Amino acid sequence: MNRFDYIRPSSIPEAVASAAEPGSAYLAGGTNLLDLMKVGVARPERVIDISRLPGLDRVEWLADGSVRVGSLVRNADLAYDARFARTFPAIAEALLSGASAQLRNAATVGGNLLQQTRCPYFHDRAGACNRRSPGSGCDAREGENRLHAVLGWSEHCIATHPSDFCVPLVALDAVAEVQGPSGAREIAVSALHRLPGTSPERETELEAGELIVALRIPAQAAVFARHARYLKLRERTSYAFAVVSAVAALDIEGGVVREARLALGGVAPKPWRAYEAEASLMGVRPSTRAFANAAVLALAQARPSGDNAFKIELARGILARALNLALEGTPTVMPALPASLFSTNTGANHAA
Ligand code: SF4
Repeated sequence: MNRFDYIRPSSIPEAVASAAEPGSAYLAGGTNLLDLMKVGVARPERVIDISRLPGLDRVEWLADGSVRVGSLVRNADLAYDARFARTFPAIAEALLSGASAQLRNAATVGGNLLQQTRCPYFHDRAGACNRRSPGSGCDAREGENRLHAVLGWSEHCIATHPSDFCVPLVALDAVAEVQGPSGAREIAVSALHRLPGTSPERETELEAGELIVALRIPAQAAVFARHARYLKLRERTSYAFAVVSAVAALDIEGGVVREARLALGGVAPKPWRAYEAEASLMGVRPSTRAFANAAVLALAQARPSGDNAFKIELARGILARALNLALEGTPTVMPALPASLFSTNTGANHAA
């Protein structure tokens, strides 16, 4: 591991000022950054430890019914917050689908948004990787790429975004509150992550030194609470990143879909909102056929980036299944293995 300066600021302005220096990296839960530093993929000169900044570990309900989640709230704490899980069950289900219990206890919601791709070539310094080393090439193009992207990729990078949590966040119009050297601003989570294009090394819209201080989920997202599911298909049910995942959230009134929110994970370099598929369901009576049609629309632009054509059909299938399960209704008891296709509704009562 390289030598680095360790700084523990006591306020947000102090943290932002420290991180404005080139070569700085914020440290929160450390579940991603420290791994990358150990293998030499991340080599910050200054580590700004924000894990003890006051006020960022709270879940606050605002007067308009929206919720503000501090960026240092732990993934597990948010998933098991009863009011939060009742109001935004797909987000809780996604949180419980991610990583392992130990990691969920340590990882923060802010860090979850900024975690790096799990492309194995990104993690192997011996390989060519435009994201890690701009202009060096992309070994995944001709390599092991069955888990890579089928939407939004470019010739310069075909990696997928690894987060489960971000998938319902983009579907429900969550917003990131940011503070940086130029002041405070907000970024929709759907606009936070960039597609690779010709510069995959630039992964988000954050500027140098900017810090995500909170997430806000709008009150309007609560209308989907009765019909919302997050499903994740992975190669090892206990603990693995998504091969594909999907969130389906429906607002149903009088037997008709008033509004649908759909997004996919594991298929693109960013969490992928399926706007056309959502539009196809507005005002229709929910049916297996309508859901299958929406799933086709969601993947209409998909194309394999390697040995991964199977992911397109898989993503269609999981989205249609998520829609059918959402129509049945949000379970009040979280499945024992959350989001496993094979699980039953006999797990922890997380939303009690
Ligand atoms: Fe790097 Fe992206 Fe290619 Fe993976 S897919 S090797 S992250 S450039």
